[in-house]
Amino acid sequence: MTTTTSIATHYEQFLELLTRDARVAADGRAAVPARYGERADPAGGSQPVVLTRDEWILNQIDLTLALGRLLTEDDVVVSAVPYELSFIGAEVDRVIEMVGASVISVGTSGTICPMPRLLGLIEQYEVTALVCSPSFAAELASLAASLGRRPAESTVRTIVCVGEACSTERLDRIGTAWAAKTSTLYGTPSTPTVAVACDHGALHLCDHRLRAEVRGGPRGELLLDGSPTGELVELWPADHRCDCGSTGRVLVPLGSAASAVRGPDGLVSALDVERIVFGHRRLAPHFACAVRDGTFHVTCAVAGPRTVDEDAMRRAIRSGIAEALGVEAEVTVVGVQDWSTATS
Ligand SMILES: [Zn+2]
Repeated sequence: MTTTTSIATHYEQFLELLTRDARVAADGRAAVPARYGERADPAGGSQPVVLTRDEWILNQIDLTLALGRLLTEDDVVVSAVPYELSFIGAEVDRVIEMVGASVISVGTSGTICPMPRLLGLIEQYEVTALVCSPSFAAELASLAASLGRRPAESTVRTIVCVGEACSTERLDRIGTAWAAKTSTLYGTPSTPTVAVACDHGALHLCDHRLRAEVRGGPRGELLLDGSPTGELVELWPADHRCDCGSTGRVLVPLGSAASAVRGPDGLVSALDVERIVFGHRRLAPHFACAVRDGTFHVTCAVAGPRTVDEDAMRRAIRSGIAEALGVEAEVTVVGVQDWSTATS
């Protein structure tokens, strides 16, 4: 069987399942549940999430169309996203198969395939694309460098960042570390595909199947089909079009609502802080930011040999944040080799 035939078969199977669900809905019966997952609640517990088969397939189709513009049948893709009790891992696997590329599912637990082993797999199987969080991509690059390898000379040419809000500035630095093209996709634990990137790097809301609103908009908590997501976003008004010409509204993820602080001009997100931080060009693409007692606690890392005055850099970043955003921040600057100890 050729690849084209097998993709066509997948699509036919999907269409058949979708029409079957539509018949069920028309009969007034409940939609068919397809997949169980869980999401964290603000109190630190977990809540069950069930996707219907219809939702599950439509999420996959939107992601397939987006990744189909980035990947080809010749790609060997590592998926280092969460699998257990979440939707994204299984979704990315299926989507890569639909595109016709090969997949190596690594997950994020680090038990069976910790990062050093993954670096070996990337070399052995000439992996061409990574789907992972921006933090994962940054740490994998610095681990490779610390082991004497050159990530920029690896076979990896595409990195799709998921699971974490990431500024263009940090994304560019990840792209430079790997000498790879970067892209992003945005989802929540309950809806794995919420927005997909266009060629201009903007995330377009999948508004043909999702009703998105922003509480107190245009910047505020994202509500999907009326339900709060705990995620802070900016949603461009419908008449503010992206240069790519798409009519889909542009969504800018800003991190979790819990990691935002009220500043003099409104909500300040961890992403706003990140943009200021990456104005400093000596920094590695590592970034951690948490809010404690209304103050941002930022950790960043110096790339290359530690010849910079870290204390001066720390003060400069701190005052840069205060000046631009009007909020306090505690800043820690470490050498990239000390990253995991500094953030664990
Ligand atoms: Zn666009």
